Amino acid sequence: MTSRTIVIAGAGIGGLTAALALAARGFRVTIFEKAERLEEAGAGLQLAPNASRILVGLGLAPALAPHVVTPDSVSIRTARSGGEVIRVSLAASARPDAPYWLVHRADLQGALQAAVQSHPAIELRLATPVPDARAGRDGLVIGDTEAGALIGADGAWSKVRAAAFPDIQPQFSGLIAWRGTCDAASLPQSLRPTGVQLWMGPQAHLVIYPMSAGQRINLVAIVGGAPLPPGSNAPGAGDELDALFSRARWPSSARDTIAAVNQWSRWPLYTIPDGGAWHSGRVALLGDAAHAMLPFAAQGAAMAIEDAAVLAQSLCTTRDDRGIPAALAHYAALRMPRVTRVQRIARQQGRIYHLHGPMALARDSAMRLLGPQRLTARQDWIYDWKL
Ligand SMILES: Cc1cc2nc3c(=O)[nH]c(=O)nc-3n(C[C@H](O)[C@H](O)[C@H](O)COP(=O)(O)OP(=O)(O)OC[C@H]3O[C@@H](n4cnc5c(N)ncnc54)[C@H](O)[C@@H]3O)c2cc1C
Repeated sequence: MTSRTIVIAGAGIGGLTAALALAARGFRVTIFEKAERLEEAGAGLQLAPNASRILVGLGLAPALAPHVVTPDSVSIRTARSGGEVIRVSLAASARPDAPYWLVHRADLQGALQAAVQSHPAIELRLATPVPDARAGRDGLVIGDTEAGALIGADGAWSKVRAAAFPDIQPQFSGLIAWRGTCDAASLPQSLRPTGVQLWMGPQAHLVIYPMSAGQRINLVAIVGGAPLPPGSNAPGAGDELDALFSRARWPSSARDTIAAVNQWSRWPLYTIPDGGAWHSGRVALLGDAAHAMLPFAAQGAAMAIEDAAVLAQSLCTTRDDRGIPAALAHYAALRMPRVTRVQRIARQQGRIYHLHGPMALARDSAMRLLGPQRLTARQDWIYDWKL
């Protein structure tokens, strides 16, 4: 039956997770991926409990466990004084079946790819851009494959979205993420982070955390900048970043950690406006293709992973080919309110982190007044999500 075969465009975190979730529900899956090899930029990823719960459920914990770091807190610091404003517990939200993980992207992508390639119901075609889809007798014809549905998990510059919804375009946020890593051993003991550090500064912020079983440190510095070509990952000169995180504005501990990185890359932050269309007939979008967001809630990949689980659940309720468009509509209706709320929170957090002058002082006081417990509780609706 055509409806038991699903084509996915894109083998990123969203597409690979969707393939595993669909195969676990009895579907056959073909993934078209334009890249020859799945290699993520050398960078880290925070995987919150709402995402790790799904990956654990798909059986990925043994492959990931040797590589992850499980932090117990986020230390929120201010560039103004160099001190800690507040420490938010992550241990409180994490569960054995839903840990908070810090992971190198290559380790996550490697674990997902290995699981996909060893699954008899999934075919991964590398170096193969997704062909155009046309209507077939019972479903869609995509290249040589007949399928009940086409899922666009092909990222912010999605070809599937461009074909289905040409009016929806990524928008440049005016912000650039500088990404770099260094060996933990290259930092003095006093600078080695054990959990997540979030440094808030004037019109910039910095996130630092360990990954690769504590051997490597991940740094992301967010600053304003001119748009780079879409989807690019351009090299960045350390001198330029040093000037942006100047001695006058940033404490030596943050600057010394930045200086330990040998190679920076710059990633322009584009977003997909919220509230747009996600599905049409037998075509649906997932992950960044549907909702690329600012990374300030550390939830973009997590939302793609949640999308994957909900998509598989929605599709498995269909009895025959004719039920697929309704199942995709159901998927989109279930996902959009939650994802839109997360997109908004990410934007709001960016504004809060980048305050300066008296507003930064007021922010720091407000955070202290709120206290760690109430700050932690504000994340519960995100982290406690279950299928
Ligand atoms: C600086 C930064 C930090 C972040 N930190 C976090 C974090 O801590 N936690 C978190 O949850 N999220 C984080 N994110 C967000 C996260 O990286 C993304 O949301 C996530 O990677 C999106 O996955 P995806 O599979 O939807 O898309 P992508 O990763 O973009 O994958 C799309 C895939 O589709 C392929 N493709 C594209 N076009 C075609 C085509 N025509 N045919 C076939 N294949 C195609 C691409 O080659 C790619 O493999 C961060 C993002 C940034 C920029």
